[in-house]
Amino acid sequence: MNAELREDVAALEDTVRRFTLERIVPNVERWEEAGEVPRSLHREAAALGLLGMGYPEALGGTPAPYALRNALSVAMSRHGGSGGVMAALFSHNIALPPLLRHGSEALQREVIPPVLRGEQVAALAITEPGGGSDVAALCTLARREGDEYVIDGEKTFITSGVRADWITVAVRTGEPGTRGSGGISMLVVPGDARGLERTRLAKMGWHASDTGQLRFDAVRVPARYLVGEEGAGFRMIMGNFNGERLAMSAMALGFAEACFDEALAWARERRTFGTALVEKQVIRHKLVDMQMRIHSTRAWLDAVTALADEGEIGI
Ligand SMILES: Cc1cc2nc3c(=O)[nH]c(=O)nc-3n(C[C@H](O)[C@H](O)[C@H](O)COP(=O)(O)OP(=O)(O)OC[C@H]3O[C@@H](n4cnc5c(N)ncnc54)[C@H](O)[C@@H]3O)c2cc1C
Repeated sequence: MNAELREDVAALEDTVRRFTLERIVPNVERWEEAGEVPRSLHREAAALGLLGMGYPEALGGTPAPYALRNALSVAMSRHGGSGGVMAALFSHNIALPPLLRHGSEALQREVIPPVLRGEQVAALAITEPGGGSDVAALCTLARREGDEYVIDGEKTFITSGVRADWITVAVRTGEPGTRGSGGISMLVVPGDARGLERTRLAKMGWHASDTGQLRFDAVRVPARYLVGEEGAGFRMIMGNFNGERLAMSAMALGFAEACFDEALAWARERRTFGTALVEKQVIRHKLVDMQMRIHSTRAWLDAVTALADEGEIGI
């Protein structure tokens, strides 16, 4: 990382730390209980440029390397942005990249700017009740009828699925009943489309993020909502997963740092048998071991991020 980028990272970390401590931490428990974050949080994050990082200026974003985007994720998760808040706030970062890379200019202009302004929410729907890892087996069907696609099927575990104004949906446009990576396409579906039924799922954590079950019953969307070419969806999805993996790794690193910060603070504060916990050799070993694992994770993340910024990873 060169000196200029290091300065940008430090400035961004400071902005994100302040935003997280002032705007998220005082409210996070309430939002986790309510099961969602307010729309106003999206607008506040957008005003600081946090939603638009990595998107072109012409669409309302700020071009930024992965090094900066990851710094945002690490800093927010380290300073108190819960996994649920972050999933809710940033679900567009898995929903929009396929459009950005493969969508028509008109589709990009319709969908992306209002999301980056924090006025609308975007979600990505790939997983189905029949299975998630095996993307080539998805069977939600979209058949072409004139200038429209008609979608039938079901999706599950969709982050922001119930609140989303736009959902990037993986569908099978090939022959019904076929499987395999060919014949998968990506369509953008408005959240209020007729025939789309959305139900919230209960889950063990990430409560501030809505996780939805979607049922498509003859949902019609204009054919211009197709992202890229028909049948090219599988490669788009695989590339998109790489970007998501990078962001999730950055979040995991930030959460590990938060755990270390709290463990160290408690070990300094808590006294047993006449001394603070941190004075005990076994506790010091444990803390050093945590710190070593955090440092090696950061080194790995930095190395992979550098490869992504050099264009060496298909995203
Ligand atoms: C909180 C949350 C949010 C999510 N958000 C989204 C979202 O926004 N959009 C979306 O599309 N999906 C989302 N998902 C779904 C997620 O991507 C899937 O859960 C994931 O792809 C795994 O699919 P599955 O749950 O069907 O598990 P399965 O595919 O049924 O796998 C079950 C287990 O078997 C293992 N396994 C599978 N195949 C193999 C293999 N070949 N070899 C060895 N082990 C294997 C898996 O690792 C897993 O442990 C979300 C899930 C959660 C929990």
